[in-house]
Amino acid sequence: MTRIYDYDIVIVGGGPAGLSAGWTAAKRGMSVAIIEREEAIGQTIRTSGVTWIEDAKSFGIPDDYYNKIKNYAFYSPNNYILKSSSKPHAAVLDVRKTYQFLAYQAASAGANIFLKTNVIEGSKDEKGKLVGVRATSMKEDLIFRSKLIIDASGFYSIIGKSVGMVSQWRRFGAGAEYEAYVDKTDSDTWHLMVGHKYSPAGYAWIFPLGDNRVRIGVGIGKPESQADATQRLLELLESKPKPIDQLGRIVPIEFHYGLIPNEGLRSSLVHDNLILVGDAAGQANPLVLEGIRYAIEFGRRAGAIGAQAVIKGDTSREFLKPYEDSTKKDVGSKIGAAIKVQYRWLGLDDDQWDKELEIINELSIEEFLDFVKADFGMSNIIRMATHHPKFAIRQLFDMIKNSRIDLYHIQGN
Ligand SMILES: Cc1cc2nc3c(=O)[nH]c(=O)nc-3n(C[C@H](O)[C@H](O)[C@H](O)COP(=O)(O)OP(=O)(O)OC[C@H]3O[C@@H](n4cnc5c(N)ncnc54)[C@H](O)[C@@H]3O)c2cc1C
Repeated sequence: MTRIYDYDIVIVGGGPAGLSAGWTAAKRGMSVAIIEREEAIGQTIRTSGVTWIEDAKSFGIPDDYYNKIKNYAFYSPNNYILKSSSKPHAAVLDVRKTYQFLAYQAASAGANIFLKTNVIEGSKDEKGKLVGVRATSMKEDLIFRSKLIIDASGFYSIIGKSVGMVSQWRRFGAGAEYEAYVDKTDSDTWHLMVGHKYSPAGYAWIFPLGDNRVRIGVGIGKPESQADATQRLLELLESKPKPIDQLGRIVPIEFHYGLIPNEGLRSSLVHDNLILVGDAAGQANPLVLEGIRYAIEFGRRAGAIGAQAVIKGDTSREFLKPYEDSTKKDVGSKIGAAIKVQYRWLGLDDDQWDKELEIINELSIEEFLDFVKADFGMSNIIRMATHHPKFAIRQLFDMIKNSRIDLYHIQGN
């Protein structure tokens, strides 16, 4: 038997992007279905959950949902630097609690959430127009008819692919981590580890959650390296290079694994009756694989413009285009600049990494935070490239400015 539902807006994926889109769309009076294939919101964690306190506050995430960080330690094979700020700026989220907070927010505005429901593809009418999605639940086949679909399915962009709008990401990061008990940890210091000793193309991390809890993991860039992230994580726990050796006993409690696109924004974010958001749209900072705040922010934007389109009775690509334009304007060049730094980093050998840390160490704490957040607009880059008192930093930002890598050519999607 096939059950049919009718909604104004159907959202595929109950991650931060889909839940945030569901909230803003439902708030505007839309009937909204958020479809999630897992049994619970935030059931499988695919992220390390680092974000920024300022953003978490602006999203209304309660401050007891995250651990605050004010020291940022970096290790290369033969170097170590520590950047510190007087007050904390970074946050390590309790990911499950945060995503469920977003789910309750969406539900309280009127959105329905369908759990354990797997979307298979977009469904089209006889003219080939996207008019809903086909899904399966535990006991039946389902058709969700809707005026607009928001694809928030993350890395796999299930609907974008099913209408032929996008193809599978070719550049991406694979990450494996344990959430673990450790004997010793400093709850306001994160540790990032770079160089081949840690990751053949990426970095390793220790993110503290407070109370002897840490997330300890490793990310590996594809296709640059064929190494398996899980295997690498196990090797690191076995060999215990610095600073992992300082944690004492490490007792894994939960394993996390995920993939994150690493090509910048999709060249197109909208289609007739369709919006892509979050990882499905490539809305993440590829430098440090950070996408949660982008997913929430652009999810909210997608839900709002989607509702506006439904209310006006025009869900065409043209009507939805301002969403694409504003996303490109707000983060396109920042993500592009982050990709350029990433290319530089991927080319560094261990000795060069030791020197790169010296350059990072020259940044003021404010510059450093902007750098890690990829919060540098073009005018900032030009200012740093021409006027920064430190020569090495002028060189770094000159490289970003002059790089010929064109984000939209890399994408090819
Ligand atoms: C190893 C790793 C570490 C990371 N660390 C950080 C970090 O520290 N900080 C940070 O900000 N970002 C981090 N990220 C990135 C961040 O997790 C993502 O950018 C963010 O989760 C994107 O949110 P989303 O809602 O777009 O997608 P997702 O969080 O992937 O959510 C998509 C949802 O859609 C569901 N879904 C998929 N297909 C279907 C289907 N066919 N039918 C129904 N449901 C479906 C999935 O089950 C999932 O719940 C990390 C990523 C990885 C891989």
